[in-house]
Amino acid sequence: MPSLKLGDFELSIFSDGTYPLDGGAFFGVIPKIMWSRKMPADERNYCTAGLNSLLIRTGKQNVLVETGMGNKLSERMVKFYGQPAQLLANLAGAGIAPEDIDIVINTHLHFDHCGWNTVRDKDGKIVPTFPRAKYYAPEGEWQYARKPSERDSISYISDNYDPLVESGQMTLLKGGEEIVPGISVKTFPGHTAHMQAVIIHSGGSHISEKKRDVGHPIESATACYISDLIPTAAHIDLTWGMGFDLYPLQTIESKKQYYEKAIAEKWLTVFTHDAKTPWAYVEKDETGKMAAREA
Ligand SMILES: [Zn+2]
Repeated sequence: MPSLKLGDFELSIFSDGTYPLDGGAFFGVIPKIMWSRKMPADERNYCTAGLNSLLIRTGKQNVLVETGMGNKLSERMVKFYGQPAQLLANLAGAGIAPEDIDIVINTHLHFDHCGWNTVRDKDGKIVPTFPRAKYYAPEGEWQYARKPSERDSISYISDNYDPLVESGQMTLLKGGEEIVPGISVKTFPGHTAHMQAVIIHSGGSHISEKKRDVGHPIESATACYISDLIPTAAHIDLTWGMGFDLYPLQTIESKKQYYEKAIAEKWLTVFTHDAKTPWAYVEKDETGKMAAREA
């Protein structure tokens, strides 16, 4: 389980497992001869996609970003994707029980991002997986999920969020809100119209107190769970978007906007679907090409 300190926060990746994803769908209009150098495909053209959740331990609260694919997929979906369902076991392995999670944030409501929001209890009733948690998701995404297009309706499973909205356990976000001090959301349209990235900013007060004594500037650090805008380290080039993106031209604009800050301020980028590189620093090399430097 990869883990690092970001100022006062501790960030850890917890995976819900991996699943096969068609390489053409994963890389859109990019020719296979190019993408297959970065991500191998098997004989059926499937790549291995990861399901990375990010746990942020702030010292006061445990904040979980995304809940993977979960264990409620239909038989038909299981045929396509399997159903790895490893998130709870991986959390338990680190001593984290569902009751220990205070906050859950979904960047959008596709089934592979909010699957463990809920589970079926022994009577078949849908209940929250994280009973004490306050859940958050983009409001525009939830509105859209009620009436999705024919193209992506398969990606929305009402049981993952509607019971939480109905019970009041899920709060819907406009975009731009700070959920707890240092953790906020920002809308980056492209993959969907309302997907929100989660920005984690720690002022690093312990470090800065010490450093201030010896005259150093205050240190701060930022990480961003950029979700399906840049799903893997192989997607960092501006034009390498997924075939799934509903608004591919907006994906490019959003990436430009993101890199303007993230590269200049050396943000740590967290990749939602990268089975090998869950996070990295994106940099521009001398030729202007994007490169991922491992964290
Ligand atoms: Zn998605």
